[in-house]
Amino acid sequence: MRDLLDGLLTLLAPRRCPGCDEATEGAEVFCAACSALIQRTSEPSAVFEYGGPVADAIQRFKYDGRSELGAALGSVMAADAHPWAGKVDAVVPVPLHWRRRRSRGYDQAALLAKPVARSLAVPVMLRGLRRVRNTPSQVDLPHRERQQNIAGAFAPRRLHGLARVLLIDDVRTTGATLRAASEALRAGGVSEVYTFVLAARVLGQGA
Ligand SMILES: [Zn+2]
Repeated sequence: MRDLLDGLLTLLAPRRCPGCDEATEGAEVFCAACSALIQRTSEPSAVFEYGGPVADAIQRFKYDGRSELGAALGSVMAADAHPWAGKVDAVVPVPLHWRRRRSRGYDQAALLAKPVARSLAVPVMLRGLRRVRNTPSQVDLPHRERQQNIAGAFAPRRLHGLARVLLIDDVRTTGATLRAASEALRAGGVSEVYTFVLAARVLGQGA
């Protein structure tokens, strides 16, 4: 019901650029002004460099309750997901701990994963992984502590014998979260794990 309502509201409201929140027309997700400021990466495993309008969009999406941005930002990822076409059996989002999901109301990586899975014509396994520890936010931790903070935070859950998985998250900072989630997938019997994020922080960008 909520999905249906969200869908109707999206149809009725003017489309807004996720970067600046201004109404925008045209086929692109980001408006022309934001697009000019956005840096794409040269690697297949991340669409954008973190920063500018992309950071603003992720902030709105994750912390301002703007779950509807998931479809738009996920469609941007889906358009860049072709390197994994035919190479993965399913898409698995990096899950939030249930407590954080309950307070936020949605799981941002799951919303991004759905359009990606659709574009690859594979299922999205929303319960493939479980976050077993509610880790403190990674944002304020130095590099080494991030690794310790997140190690063992995930456990395999319902992977149904999957062999090849594309793991999805919104932001990659040091890669510690993706490494911990990949280890849990391998522990669950997945032999090939690829990772794909909306935005990656580049070295020397801080945090
Ligand atoms: Zn914009």
